[in-house]
Amino acid sequence: MDRGFSAVPCAADAELVVLNSCTVTAFADEDVRKAVRRVHRENPDARILVTGCYAQRAPEEIAVLPGVAWVVGNSHKIQIPDIVSAPAEVPYHGEIRVGDIFAQSDFLSAPVEDASGDRTRPNLKIQDGCNNRCSFCIIPFVRGRSRSAPVAQVVEQVRNLAARYREVVLSGINLGRWGREPGSAIRLVDLLRTLLAETAIERLRLSSVEPMDWSDDVLDIVATSARIAKHVHAPLQSGSDSVLRRMHRKYRPQHYEQRIRKARAWMLDAAIGADVMAGFPGETDAEFEESRAFIESLPFTYLHVFTYSERPGTPAAECADQVPMEVRKERNRILRELGARKNLEFRRSMLGRTLSVVTLAEGGLSDNFLKVELAAPRPANKMVDVKIGSLSVNGVREHSDLQILATDKHG
Ligand code: SF4
Repeated sequence: MDRGFSAVPCAADAELVVLNSCTVTAFADEDVRKAVRRVHRENPDARILVTGCYAQRAPEEIAVLPGVAWVVGNSHKIQIPDIVSAPAEVPYHGEIRVGDIFAQSDFLSAPVEDASGDRTRPNLKIQDGCNNRCSFCIIPFVRGRSRSAPVAQVVEQVRNLAARYREVVLSGINLGRWGREPGSAIRLVDLLRTLLAETAIERLRLSSVEPMDWSDDVLDIVATSARIAKHVHAPLQSGSDSVLRRMHRKYRPQHYEQRIRKARAWMLDAAIGADVMAGFPGETDAEFEESRAFIESLPFTYLHVFTYSERPGTPAAECADQVPMEVRKERNRILRELGARKNLEFRRSMLGRTLSVVTLAEGGLSDNFLKVELAAPRPANKMVDVKIGSLSVNGVREHSDLQILATDKHG
């Protein structure tokens, strides 16, 4: 806004349209291309700037789309205000920034303060890139090697956010690798200790952390600090040993199981979630069943299930034995049903309990990652204790006297 821009209600009225792109699957790429074409069709005069992961991974693919004036990789995202407000005679104007793709050595990040549109749980990215080479994943090519935001920067950002928000979500591409640059002895748990000691933030939440980075130290601080959400998200991908090996994942099922069981033993009410992938190349019926049974045996409270999709340039995409799409989708359905069942069990176990909840624009989110419908509207961005009375479609509902009367009346 301070560059003279103002928001308009729809893209058809805009002179400049900024699209943030994802490249996690081939479907995501296609969605971005469709969005660009739609914007250009509806508003041929608009200059379109495409940024985000797809822009970083394959700028040339986006540059040829109609109406695209700039393609700005993640590495240069923070410069977008300068790029779009540069006068016409300087090189940014009308130029495709293909050259941005490898300029990734700095850590450039600002908190995303309108995550989920609720503006009450800002997402602070403190780590970028990944040194692993999972055979299905394009991210290391897109984001480069792992690098961490400096402690002082994170403390300063969390301190500023704590003045306005109750909860801050710490995130990264491979968050558990925070601080692990060569020669550095500082670890994620040290950063957490520092944030608890030096900021007034009421609740920190860790987003996804790779299984083996849920060290005893990290689990312990999450379990024992009242200011860290009881929430453990550890990507699994598959519960089959042979599939994990082909994925080039760095743990075996027994290692994963040990971390998850410890998390549950130390935090009886914690949310425990996993990303799982259906239909990785070569996944046989027996391997899928091995994975499903493994997942069923563990105390997950939710699952994020993805159907495998080929990412050009990755080893997995070159495999000859791709699983037919209808089989992938059927396995996805089975895992989703399993996740829904586990989530329902967990929600039921919370009935009658009192949970600490951050209020959102609508409803709230509990410490242990349940969507909470409130009995009466409350202002957003407050930390409240809520007694759980019943289940909602996807979450839980606050207990209310009204509900007791209704229950009494009908027996
Ligand atoms: S650890 Fe995650 S980001 Fe890194 S290569 Fe594997 S899937 Fe990709």
